[in-house]
Formats: sequence, C-alpha cells, structure tokens
Amino acid sequence: MITPQEGKSSFSLFAVRQLLPRLRPHRRALSVAGVALVISAALGLAFPLIVRHLMDAAFEDRDASALNSIAILLLVVFAAQAVFNFLQVFLLSATAERVIAGLRTELFAHLLTLSPGFYAERSSGELTSRLASDCSTLQVVLSHQLAEFLRQILYLVGALTLLAILHTDLMVTTITVAPIVVLSAYAFGSILRAKSTRVQDELAESNATAEEAFTQIPIVQSFTREGWEEKRYGNRIARALKTAVQRALVRGLFFGMITFVAFGGIVVVLWKGGLLVLEGQITAGELVSFLLYAVSVAAAITALASLYSGYQEAMGAAKRVFDLLHLEPTIKEPRHSEALPPASDAGGLVFRDVWFRYGLDEPWVLRRLDLDIRPGEIVALVGPSGAGKSTLAALVPRFWDPTQGVITLRGADLRRIPLIELRTAVGIVPQEPLLFADTIYENIAYGRPEASSEEVMQAARFAHAHEFIQGLAGGYEAMVGERGIRLSGGQRQRIAIARIFLKEPEILILDEATSSLDTESEALVEEALETVMEGRTTLIIAHRLKTVQRADRVLVIDDGRILEQGTHSELVAEGGMYARLYRGQLLEPQADPAD
Ligand code: ADP
Repeated sequence: MITPQEGKSSFSLFAVRQLLPRLRPHRRALSVAGVALVISAALGLAFPLIVRHLMDAAFEDRDASALNSIAILLLVVFAAQAVFNFLQVFLLSATAERVIAGLRTELFAHLLTLSPGFYAERSSGELTSRLASDCSTLQVVLSHQLAEFLRQILYLVGALTLLAILHTDLMVTTITVAPIVVLSAYAFGSILRAKSTRVQDELAESNATAEEAFTQIPIVQSFTREGWEEKRYGNRIARALKTAVQRALVRGLFFGMITFVAFGGIVVVLWKGGLLVLEGQITAGELVSFLLYAVSVAAAITALASLYSGYQEAMGAAKRVFDLLHLEPTIKEPRHSEALPPASDAGGLVFRDVWFRYGLDEPWVLRRLDLDIRPGEIVALVGPSGAGKSTLAALVPRFWDPTQGVITLRGADLRRIPLIELRTAVGIVPQEPLLFADTIYENIAYGRPEASSEEVMQAARFAHAHEFIQGLAGGYEAMVGERGIRLSGGQRQRIAIARIFLKEPEILILDEATSSLDTESEALVEEALETVMEGRTTLIIAHRLKTVQRADRVLVIDDGRILEQGTHSELVAEGGMYARLYRGQLLEPQADPAD
C-alpha cells in the first residue's frame, strides 16, 4: 500500500526529491539567504585572524593605536555579521514556514481524496499527528538545521584550510580526530532515527486514544470509564516515554562522547602549540588564532554530529509525511472519463452481476447482484443487520468499487463518470447525521455553498426545519456545537435533509434512523423525507414498516444476496423471509401519531 522506500540512501534521496520541487518557487529568497550565510561564515572565519593581530599588537608590538583600530575593526565585522545573520535566519525561517504550510494543505487535501477503506484503517488522531508534529519536525529541518549544516560545513572547511595555510603540524593533529567523530555519529545516528520513529508512532497512537475518548465522551462518562480511559492513555504515554527516555540516553551518550573527542583534540593542539611557542617558532597571537580555528573545527564537528542525528529523526518524519502524500486513493478518477449521458436516455441505476468484498481475504459481502432501478423509483432495502444493505448503498457514490461486475447510471459505468459529477448526482442522509461545528446556516449551505440565503431558508422550510431554527437564540446564525451536539437527533436530521434539498441530487440514499425520535420530530422528519424523495431515484435502508409500504419495490437482502423482491403486499403474500420479518415485527410499526 505504501510506496516502499528501502535503504537509507535511496530514502534520503526520495525525501530530497520530494522537497526540492517545493523549494523551487522560493529560490530567490533562498539564494539571498545562501549568500548571506556564506558572508556571515566568512566573517566568522576572519575573526581568529584579526584576533591574532590584536594579540600581537598587545604582546609583541605593544602598539596601543593599532590595538584600538583592530578592536574597532572587530566591532565592524561583528555588526556586519549580525546583519547577514538576520537576513539568513529571517529569509530561511519564513521560507520554511511557507513551504511547510503548503505541504500541510497539500497533505490535508490529499487525505480528503482517500477512500473510506483508508479511514477504516487509520485513526483520525494519527492523521492529525502527521499533519501537526511530523510537519513541524520537517519545518525545523528546513528553517534551522539545513542552514546550520551549511554554516558548520563552511566553518569546518574554512578553518581547516586556514589551519593548513597557517600551520600544517597543528592541522594534521586536528584532522586525525575527525574520522572517529564521523564514524560514531553515523552509528549513533541510525539508532536515534529508529528510536525517534518509534516515539513518534507511539505518540500518534496515544493521540488517537485521546481523540477517541473526546469524541465519545458521553459514552465514556455514562459507563464511568474515565479511569479506564485514563489508564489506556497513560499506558500509551508510558510506552512512548520509555522509548523517549532510551532516545535521551542514546543522545546523551552520543554528545558526551563527541564533545570529549572534539575538545580532547583541542588539548592536543594547545599542548603542541605551546611547545612551538616555547621553541620560538610561533608568536602567542598565532597560537591564539590556531586555537580559535581548532575550536571552530571542534565546534563544527560537534554541531554536524548533532545535526546528523536531527537529520535522521527528520527523515523519519519526512518518510511518514510523503508516504501518506503518495498513497494512491483506491477510488480513482477515471482516466478516460465520460460525461453522464442526458437524463432522457434510457436507464436508471443498474447493477450487473455485482460481487463485493472489503479485502482479498475477507468474505463476500455482496454476491451476484443484478438490479435495475428505474429513474424516480423508490427502493427499500430490508434484511437482517450485517446483510450488506449499507455496503450496497455505499457502492453508488463509489465509496467502494465492486470487486466484480459493473454498476451503471444512465448506461454509463460509474467508474468512467468523473467523480465530482457522480457524487453531485448522489445525495446521502445518514442514519445519524453529524454536523460541523459552525452555524446552522453554514451547515445547510454545505449542500451547495453558492446558494443564496433565500434558497437556504427555502430548503430549511421544505425540510421542516425553518420553524425550530427561528426558535433558536441566534436563528440561522446559532452555532450547533461540535458534531451538532446542541441539536436533537430529529433536528440534526432535518438539517441534513435541508442540505439535500439544496444539493438537488438525482439519486438519494437514505439510511433510516433506527433510534426512535420523539413522535413529533419523527413525523416532521417523515414528511420532509417524503418531499425530498419526490421525483428522485431513492434507495432507503428501511427499518420502518411505513417506509417499506410506501416504496415502489422492496428488496430483501440476506447474506449479500437479493432473496426476494416485490411490493410489500406481494412479499407478505409470498410468505417468505419478508413475511417472517413482518410478522416478527422486526420492522418497527411506525411512530407517526397521525396513523
Ligand atoms: P447492513 O447494512 O446490512 O447491516 P453492512 O453492509 O453494514 O450490513 O455490512 C455487511 C458486512 O460487511 C458485515 O459482515 C460487516 O461486518 C462487513 N463490513 C462492513 N464494513 C466493513 C469494512 N469497512 N471492512 C470490512 N468489513 C466490513
């Protein structure tokens, strides 16, 4: 499912290849930042040279005026460096923020295209974690670590070159330390990457646990499972903590060792340099400048090692982000799409020998389904729970594609109709509609954002929602709370129906609520549904007798097959499964007080 990116080097290349095109639009800012970085590093490298003259002016020449001018020169150098540092840090950070904001939006947009199957496997907590923390890790790399890496490379190469020019002996001493540092950085780095990936994964899991508890808070509280949820979350956090502490241990060992090796090298340089001063081969100023360069080298090596481990961690984050970004939706836009044939053409919604299962090793959920639904026909699906009714309905807007067989609308294979056109043609009222944490108005207008406020209100009237909305403090501008919790079940349903009035789909899929609403609400929802079904091809997953009686055709589904079909009275007369369901009162009579 996920693009395999085996091997570290190909993997780094993969991440770089992903990032480069995203940096390209910012090349001007990046070039200026790059130039500023080089100048600032060059000024930093000039510092020991100037200090050498300052020391010699004080100790050797005892020249006060030279000392003054050198001190002023140093101040000017640092002031200039400050300006270039500002430029580099600002431009780079701002660019990184822009690139990552773009990446986040792109990832979010991509995630929205993935099919329900993907969401069945991943928790929303994990996904928000990818959007938030993995993207942040990448942002730190771009805004800070990359520049630091370049700066330290410049320092390292510059200081080594200057050491080589100024004194080869000391340079050789310094350079012998380098391979030890590089090798250990490499070894520690890969351990760190593995640990970091685990920490991130475990944190994402604990996020998912928390998010689940928040969204199901009434259940958690009514079953008084707060303690259990706390323990569940606590366990996940404890696991993440354990790995994080191991990571801290590795980090600690790593930096302890690196600093010892690097600064141990400085001691050697100091000692050798001291000997050279004693022999009169170099001046004290020269020794100080050597020392400063050697410190630069040591500091650069330490910083590079730390950056390397940071880089390893970031690559883990990059992999997770880009893997998600490259995940192909299982439901794809048709490569050669056909526009939906005009409505006047023959043919409604047709299933031809449709078989479906949720995965290769899952059992068949729908078998040998042949079905012709005329335009405008109202078809009720009944059958035991788990029979495959919702699955059948989910094939119509292509939340899933049939494993075998074809579904056509007006003669066109659904897989060849542009997704947007198909999904515009299909309206869904789920069993328990959830609303967005926004105003009533926005929730209705979700059905057709360009609708005028007149149309929104008209839709609310058709859905028998206008009255109760007017009764709310704030009316259409009232906020509904997260997932619509401030409204009753029946009110939420009527808002969902109002949305459908605005959308005006050709095909309607209704999943009748099983939980009973209060009778008044029930009657209003019934009426609203009746109006919305007029003239539309409708598939209802029916739980109520009244709905079934009103349908043009009833399909009795059992174990993925159409067992019986006909009108209510035909099926009762047939005396098969439907008759048994009917007599066993598995269909709720009705809750309409008018009957
Ligand atoms: P109904 O709507 O008739 O109650 P469904 O269509 O929801 O039945 O389910 C039919 C079968 O498919 C059930 O056995 C259910 O467990 C299975 N099923 C539903 N959704 C999934 C899924 N996302 N992955 C795997 N199996 C599923």
